[in-house]
Amino acid sequence: MLDILLDILFPRRACCLCRRPGYYWTHSPWCDECRNKMKESTEKLNTCARCGKFLADDQPLCSECQEVDPPFAIARAVGPYQGCHRQLIKQYKFMEKKFLAWSMAQMMARVVRENGDYWPLNLVVPVPMSREGLLRRGFNQSELLASRIARDLKVRYDPHVLLRIKDSSPQRELSKEMREKNLMNAFVINKPERVKGKNILLVDDVYTTGSTAKECTRTLLKAGANRVGVISWASGKGF
Ligand SMILES: [Zn+2]
Ligand SMILES: [Zn+2]
Repeated sequence: MLDILLDILFPRRACCLCRRPGYYWTHSPWCDECRNKMKESTEKLNTCARCGKFLADDQPLCSECQEVDPPFAIARAVGPYQGCHRQLIKQYKFMEKKFLAWSMAQMMARVVRENGDYWPLNLVVPVPMSREGLLRRGFNQSELLASRIARDLKVRYDPHVLLRIKDSSPQRELSKEMREKNLMNAFVINKPERVKGKNILLVDDVYTTGSTAKECTRTLLKAGANRVGVISWASGKGF
């Protein structure tokens, strides 16, 4: 009887990853076990010191950063683009579970807060979507994350300085060279005075080849930004 009453008063929510029910008092969308699983999967991997891609060996840099130094000051992700991290970003992006943005942004903000290489920061900017992309998806997943990260870090947020004028998706099937060509002149700066001299945090959802983050960084630096750091929810493997 008490159980039924409790269920009515506090509807049970299931963990969005393992579906285990039963959270009366917490607002976390995932359970402690899944939280630990995510932490462990990240901790056992080494990361590229420059772009944050997860590495299988203990090399300091991924093969790509060994060849060409990326334009940003630092890039990091909460976890690898696999398992729970991958499942979450898919639920968030394609199943429109927007409430996940709160907890995901909190974890992204923590990575930034704890890494001195991001600081000082003046401005948080999301990777923009083209108008066509926005019509397709209905919302910009990076924008929602970026606004919450900015609030968490108490840094100014501006989704209107970096614009995407070329719809370059889908990029997945393209080779690295084609991706980069495809992204050339895809971004423009609206009101360059707003980025001039600023230390910027660029927010992306998934860092795969890094082509998008790098092109956004180049565009911001060309417009006079002082430094750009990149944070994403998940990052691909650099091996
Ligand atoms: Zn769970
Ligand atoms: Zn790298």
